[in-house]
Amino acid sequence: MKEILKKSACELADMLARGEVTSVELTTSCLERIHALNSKVNAFLFIDDEGALATAREVDAKRAAGEKLSRLAGVPIAVKDNMVTRGVPTTCASKILEGWLPPYDATVVTKLREAGLPIVGKTNMDEFAMGSSTEHSAFGSTRNPWDVGRIPGGSGGGSAAAVAAFMVPLALGSDTGGSIRQPGAVTGTVGVKPTYGAVSRYGLVAMASSLDQIGPVTRTVGDAAALQEIVGGYDPLDSTSLDEPVPPFEMLTSRYSESLAGVRVGVVKQLQGEGYQEGVLESFHASVELLKDLGAQIVEVDCPSFDYALAAYYLIMPAEVSSNLARFDGMRYGLRVEPESGPVTAETVMAATREAGFGDEVKRRIILGTHVLSAGFFDAYYGSAQKVRTLVQRDFEAAFASCDVLVSPTAPTTAFAFGEKMNDPMAMYLNDIATIPANLAGVPAMSLPCGVAKEDGLPVGFQILAPAHKDTSMYEIAGALERALGEPLAESCPASSWEEEA
Ligand code: GLN
Repeated sequence: MKEILKKSACELADMLARGEVTSVELTTSCLERIHALNSKVNAFLFIDDEGALATAREVDAKRAAGEKLSRLAGVPIAVKDNMVTRGVPTTCASKILEGWLPPYDATVVTKLREAGLPIVGKTNMDEFAMGSSTEHSAFGSTRNPWDVGRIPGGSGGGSAAAVAAFMVPLALGSDTGGSIRQPGAVTGTVGVKPTYGAVSRYGLVAMASSLDQIGPVTRTVGDAAALQEIVGGYDPLDSTSLDEPVPPFEMLTSRYSESLAGVRVGVVKQLQGEGYQEGVLESFHASVELLKDLGAQIVEVDCPSFDYALAAYYLIMPAEVSSNLARFDGMRYGLRVEPESGPVTAETVMAATREAGFGDEVKRRIILGTHVLSAGFFDAYYGSAQKVRTLVQRDFEAAFASCDVLVSPTAPTTAFAFGEKMNDPMAMYLNDIATIPANLAGVPAMSLPCGVAKEDGLPVGFQILAPAHKDTSMYEIAGALERALGEPLAESCPASSWEEEA
């Protein structure tokens, strides 16, 4: 593998600025590795050689002309396939959108284009972002670069695997219940879910609108901060967009201090213990000790409603899913299937299209969602779940009254084997136990690699949660911990020794 592919996005940006490499050279190296390894990893559903190289050439020309460029101009990036890209296939890993070419760009994509980041392709995912393993993709699962017999997490397994396998230094993911953070945890990469509303959702194909959030997937904390600066900010096209300034990169990282004296870190009592792998807990607690060594004050905090967060999520999320996915009806765009027999009416075409176009997990959630919203059950299910959501928010408020950040393991286990949980939806859902509270409350949360588990040598994720609008606090603590941990774990991913001829 070329040495340059191991560099962080910030290091690459500096090299580009100093003229040590051009964006065309860098983008070409990424594309070569993607083409060589994609049959093994299946991280990409579409590779955009032409589009990426066109952006790279443009940035190189602007740089040569002395134009002022963005911090990450010329650094290649991959985008999860549920963010629309004009004229470039966007499938959400579903047959129902196969062959569809969006007529517009998502706001984050527009921002990447304006900032001059070549988009090398669209990454694999669980269909419509529903899942924790990428096994629900209609186009085959993505493999974990640490062990190709294991899942890369989900739903954003493609973005995480692409970054972990050094195919690209940066990617975007979306996180409704953990789809950026859990793949980050099991692939040894950094994944950030910003405060709800901090990054525009315009052009993100909606799963559950009140929970969805776009965020960075990287190998270092600094790279994530730099990417959030580029994609974040107010967008009048998203009614839930926050109208507040984006914390500048300097602020996100400059306060990384050797000392965390005065910082209060709360270890969430409910997010450890039963169901968590021993090696995951050991790695997690070792990192908590590191934070203590850096001067942080560690306290245990009680968030009793977190015990009901998973159940509430699996009622609220499907309710929103059933409504959002009603637009895929075979009438306007995407797949259209006519019934094999009987009359061809709008209704029979919709039924045949949705039967053929959606996979099992998507159907399961639509059925569940329509059920919990139906007249006789609404109060009992959806109404109760919304009450739990409020209680989870209150738990956060109470905890943040005495702590600057909260911490927990990101996922209860390391990467599991393919097929292990496919026939047991409940077991699959349990992967999200630690990530869901942040989505229910809209607070920022991130996962950074904190070591490997003793049982299997696989990456463990450390989750940091901060109060809404305080993404900066989360980055600060993460930066300090990353530095205390030493060389980023991502660098020791076995994919670094894979031959590109593979
Ligand atoms: N794994 C969770 C689910 O299946 C989270 C999905 C997501 O964040 N998009 O719903």
